[in-house]
Amino acid sequence: MKVLKFGGTSVGTVDTIKQVISILENNLAQGERMAVIFSAMGGVTNRLIEIGRMASAGQAEYLELLKAVEERHFATIRGLLNVKNQSTTFAAVKGLFNELEDLLRGVSLIRELTPRTLDLIMSFGERLSTTIITEALKHRGIATEYCDARSLIRTNDHFGLAEVDFEITNRQILEYFAKTSALPCVTGFVASTADGITTTLGRGGSDYTASIFGAALDAEVIEIWTDVDGMMTADPRKVPNAFTIPSISYAEAMELSHFGAKVIYPPSLQPAFAKNILIKVLNTFNTAFEGTLVHRSANGKEYAITGISSIDDVALVNIQGSGMIGVAGISARLFTALSDHRISVILISQASSEHSICFTIDPRNADRAREVLQKAFEAEIAVGDIDSISIEKNLSIIAIVGEGMKKSTGVSGKLFSVLGKNGINVIATAQGSSELNISVVLSKNDLSKALNAIHGVFFQSETRSLNLFIVGVGLIGGTLLEQIRNQTTYLRDEKFLKLNVAGLTNTKKMLLEPDGIDPTRWRDELDELGVKTSLPAFVQRIIELNLPNSVFVDCTSDKDIVYYYGDLLDANISVVTPNKVANSGRYAEYLQLQRMALHRGVKFLYETNVGAGLPIINTIQGLMASGDKFLKIEAILSGTLSYIFNTFGPGVRFVDVVREAKAKGYTEPDPRDDLSGTDVARKILILAREVGVPLEPEDIAIAQLLPDNCQQAPSIEAFFAELEASNDYFEKLLTDAQAQGEVLRYIATLENDRATVELRTVGPQHPFYTLSGSDNIVSFTTERYKDRPLVVKGPGAGAEVTASGVFADIMSISSYLG
Ligand code: ADP
Ligand code: ASP
Ligand code: MG
Repeated sequence: MKVLKFGGTSVGTVDTIKQVISILENNLAQGERMAVIFSAMGGVTNRLIEIGRMASAGQAEYLELLKAVEERHFATIRGLLNVKNQSTTFAAVKGLFNELEDLLRGVSLIRELTPRTLDLIMSFGERLSTTIITEALKHRGIATEYCDARSLIRTNDHFGLAEVDFEITNRQILEYFAKTSALPCVTGFVASTADGITTTLGRGGSDYTASIFGAALDAEVIEIWTDVDGMMTADPRKVPNAFTIPSISYAEAMELSHFGAKVIYPPSLQPAFAKNILIKVLNTFNTAFEGTLVHRSANGKEYAITGISSIDDVALVNIQGSGMIGVAGISARLFTALSDHRISVILISQASSEHSICFTIDPRNADRAREVLQKAFEAEIAVGDIDSISIEKNLSIIAIVGEGMKKSTGVSGKLFSVLGKNGINVIATAQGSSELNISVVLSKNDLSKALNAIHGVFFQSETRSLNLFIVGVGLIGGTLLEQIRNQTTYLRDEKFLKLNVAGLTNTKKMLLEPDGIDPTRWRDELDELGVKTSLPAFVQRIIELNLPNSVFVDCTSDKDIVYYYGDLLDANISVVTPNKVANSGRYAEYLQLQRMALHRGVKFLYETNVGAGLPIINTIQGLMASGDKFLKIEAILSGTLSYIFNTFGPGVRFVDVVREAKAKGYTEPDPRDDLSGTDVARKILILAREVGVPLEPEDIAIAQLLPDNCQQAPSIEAFFAELEASNDYFEKLLTDAQAQGEVLRYIATLENDRATVELRTVGPQHPFYTLSGSDNIVSFTTERYKDRPLVVKGPGAGAEVTASGVFADIMSISSYLG
């Protein structure tokens, strides 16, 4: 004997019912003896409740909704049966709707919807679906029989969640099956009292019906047919990476479903559990898939936990007061009061100081809970022993579940650390003493992020992902995307890292795509799917999306974008940028960003602010962290100026060198922007701050390189003319240097907390003497590198090296994910 149960999603439409019929026919072809339980068509139970409530509120529109439900069932009949076979089914279904309409009319007249009447109203859902499917099976030549479970399952009168009398129920089921040889099609969810009054078994209760029948009949298996591939590591609607759990223990399944994995309904397992009956969770729409087996005991598992589930909407009640400390019986009274009023408590946590107790409940019960507690503790509140009962809403609970937790340590550490790293605040927590589950209460806003991040560390620790939001897809951003594209396979296969480009924007269009923009097609996707750029909206959306491991990559040199860094860091989003603006403004602003990142546990990385991809800032930070002291920094930090002075030599005119540099694209459109030294000043300012010298922009002494006539020329052409006219001036600089055997170099220096930027001459013993091309060079003299400085040298400009520096910063965040 086999018991099969088809949920609302499996019997929701004509097509899905056809699929169900084919599953049943296959079973029959193999000679299986079966009982089949059906839910109401998907969504119908909710609709019936809504209609009942409207009727009791005197809203006449309930009739329209009822008509729509009726029409849905009629359409199903038309879709499943030939015209000539439809009439009896139509008559039966119409009869049920007439009965329901009468009932609702009564409700709307007396303006009252009792739990008892609601149960009767809800029962129509299963009665209708089962009637239609039974008829459809009959007309395919299958010997079937409509079986109203109300005549077999006996319960008490706790309407809405009635308790089963197993003795009578089991006997009635066995008697029924002894008599019938046809295939029984059983209405799920419904039952009745000794007086024949209709009751229901709780939402999702058709699973329970299946379990009751399975246990009574000693079935060898109960198959729960639904719309997903079995019981999964998390709700696939919320965690796209969730996957099927091939086998799970009863206890784990109970725990998971208690915390919202509604694929099976918690008490439904109990009767089957007691009799050690195998339960399979299978997919109606993927019949070949083996689904999930639910066993008495857990098998050896690959992962530390078995699954994650959540209750999306809970309220947290916190009751506190110094008068509660050490007073026996407070919690007993508290929970008795709640249970007397049928307010069920989902999770409890008490601080060991006993100063407060908090627990979560269904938010719909929140106001009632407050009243009940105020009444129960009236005396304590009056004398101030209890000073407050507060209720916080818009919260969710996440539970991680698994027998494996008993054996492995560090599970909760891992849980809290991933939440922490994603900036998710845990409001309350509880661990069951069975060590089967750890639950956390958090803000509903963080639910999706938390579920996915937790799923990531427990089930996909192999592959981690970073969600990148890239602003500016010009030279640097574009190159970065190309590098990402080229590295995708390597990073996935070798580093188990997925770089997910979740957002992109250029000056015209922006695109946010949490599932990832294809880095090979980003130009087209941005063009086709993007909307008009608005930076505030882009940032706002990134914060709202709240994806785990988010990184904002600013590849612009925009001055205003930096105002968003603070908000982003504050929302636990790391920031990576070659843009110097944020770090070279006021010191207080620089410090604030540093502190914010530290405080939020995220990264603010800007290695490419100075010397493009060269490891300059990382070197400083490494030395600082290990306790070295900086005595002096000397640096050539402009590729342009490096090129100009490395090329300017005997037999070449200065103006020609500058012209050539401009022609090669090394300079800004107006070369004076380079020659003025302000860009170099910004860079040394940043280095100063990194070594702990809190300078302001105006503290950097820039010695003007150009004579006034050049500096003040009204146009670029005029500037070149003045440069030519000043040839002697530059010649003299050169010959004076040569006379001493030295060369000209444009050097930024930090020494004794003072920073200067100036043209200097250096001799052959100086590390900068042999510099060539457009290389940057930095020499650090520290306590540890006193005799010979630590020198970092290499190309310090260009899209390739800058993008790869940005890439390296992004990679360093990935290693921090652990
Ligand atoms: P049915 O109509 O078959 O009773 P339900 O809607 O009650 O189906 O339950 C199936 C749904 O449960 C799935 O569509 C899925 O979104 C949800 N669900 C929640 N948690 C889980 C989980 N851990 N594994 C599988 N499904 C889950
Ligand atoms: N139709 C009922 C409900 O929606 C029972 C079930 O589907 O299991 O709760
Ligand atoms: Mg269900």
